[in-house]
Amino acid sequence: MSNLATSAPLTTSDLKQKEKLVGENSREGGPSLTQMISFVLVLLASTPLIFGIAQRAVGVNIESNNLSLHSKDSHSICEWGDESCIMGKELFERHMTLSRITEDPGIINRPYLSVASAHAARQVQAWMEDAGMTSSINIVGNVVGRYEADPSTSNPRTIVLGSHFDSVNDAGKFDGVYGVLAAISVVKVLKHRGQRLPFTVEVAAFDDEEGNSSFGTTNTGAKAFMGEYLTKEAAEQLLEQYAGLEEAFRKHQINYGLDSKRSGIVQGLMKSAGTSLEDVAAFIELHIEQGPILEAEGRPIGIVDAINGQTRMQVRYFGESGHAGTVPMTMRKDALGASAEAVSEIERVGNSNDGLVATVGTLNIVHASSNVVPGEVMFTVDVRAPTDEVRIHAVDRIVEYLESVRIRRGLELQITKTHEAPAVPMNPEIRRALATAISEEGLEDSPDSVRILSSGAGHDAMIVGNKIPSAMLFLRCAGGISHNPAEWLSPPDATVGARVVLKYLENLKVA
Ligand SMILES: [Zn+2]
Repeated sequence: MSNLATSAPLTTSDLKQKEKLVGENSREGGPSLTQMISFVLVLLASTPLIFGIAQRAVGVNIESNNLSLHSKDSHSICEWGDESCIMGKELFERHMTLSRITEDPGIINRPYLSVASAHAARQVQAWMEDAGMTSSINIVGNVVGRYEADPSTSNPRTIVLGSHFDSVNDAGKFDGVYGVLAAISVVKVLKHRGQRLPFTVEVAAFDDEEGNSSFGTTNTGAKAFMGEYLTKEAAEQLLEQYAGLEEAFRKHQINYGLDSKRSGIVQGLMKSAGTSLEDVAAFIELHIEQGPILEAEGRPIGIVDAINGQTRMQVRYFGESGHAGTVPMTMRKDALGASAEAVSEIERVGNSNDGLVATVGTLNIVHASSNVVPGEVMFTVDVRAPTDEVRIHAVDRIVEYLESVRIRRGLELQITKTHEAPAVPMNPEIRRALATAISEEGLEDSPDSVRILSSGAGHDAMIVGNKIPSAMLFLRCAGGISHNPAEWLSPPDATVGARVVLKYLENLKVA
């Protein structure tokens, strides 16, 4: 990455400087901005920095002419003011553009703090600027764009829209990225209308939601946005906790021409929060459902009631191994027989309540052999539910049952809780406002008929929602498939999410 060393981050004041160069006679906020953006991008693309990143990151697609790829992809492809194009064709095509930015040619892979992620951050930033936002990239890799409130509003609050732009290894094109790109398209529509709202709109593109890196971190972007690293101690602790992270931040600082000494990294982390949290009235995350419910019910969009809490356990039954031919059935201490009963009961518990899920994902027979009665079995249990009450009750039922099997079969039992996270409920008022927007967009008969879903997977909203009123919208995705190259959000459904958020913002009165 040493060839990335010279450039400073692209700041709004740089852009303003460059705007002046483009021409004095162009109309404010008109097509000149498109010209300006492409000019800036050509300028950027011709620096060794961007050339270096693009050449390495875009892999297969870059060899012929990365300069035209970079500048072309940042152009607006829509006629001035064509809202259906901005939230339609352009929004969709930007997913395709971003999918070409990867560490590994042929598949999508944007690990945290990778060259591909730096390139993707620049691309997202260029689109934010194209949508009329001021923007910045901070040390943890977050890209934040700001579309200021109507200047007549005193002390305007902020609505944050966003999701993440990192990916799992061999990812699809929509997970996370959709929530970022749809939000940018919404702001771009406002810009084309010349419309300012009585609140500021921020678009937050978080890095490291997926935990795809060798550091062992996860949700670093959202945590930094929430100010978790604002104190010196917290920043130092972060660097101590994860091996390799300090070196990765050092490279990031060097790439952006910032202080790369440890003290500079700590300073950067302390300032990494994108916004003053007191100003933030709401956070909205658009995301593909990653499940099959909306598609099965023929609905394009639903509202999340909560991000499920989760308990993970490791269970071990200790019995007695013995000869499969000589130990009578009545005298066995079969750890697998016990586990089989347990697995069936865990499935029954999972079925016992709407929204509750319980899974045995791994099972290992220790020293397994076809002619030996299993003496020791280890398996994992993963329980998730939209409310902590339901989850804790389910876990209690499972533990009770495991114990009853142990007693009946005369075995030993060890249960280790390996992970526990509470449910994060989404804000009821924002949910209601989103339901109204969905019905006003003609997507459901009434706000009450909007489909409510729980999120079985973790999301940025899980971190943000701990402190800020948050809501999530799920979009139908083909077969419920995600974290997979086959992941698919249809172009019309991609438009639906953007339209709903735009309607929500139009309806919103924030004091
Ligand atoms: Zn995601």
